[in-house]
Amino acid sequence: MAYPQKITFGEMRESGARDVLIYCRDYRCGHHTEADADGWPDDVRLSDIELRFICQRCGQRGAEVRPKFEPARMGTTG
Ligand SMILES: [Zn+2]
Repeated sequence: MAYPQKITFGEMRESGARDVLIYCRDYRCGHHTEADADGWPDDVRLSDIELRFICQRCGQRGAEVRPKFEPARMGTTG
């Protein structure tokens, strides 16, 4: 499965966001967590790290990573 390419951590920090929200891709689970984005280099894309996450609640692999400032978007599947 190919996930959409997202902005880099550098671009995210330029926009003023310091943290990311990490969501489980299983909508029935709904588990999410916050993480400090300082640990990721500027040239890494948010989409690059999504496959590394495994949900601690349901075991689903591949998270949805979003900048914390970003409002919920309508009309996309992310
Ligand atoms: Zn889950």
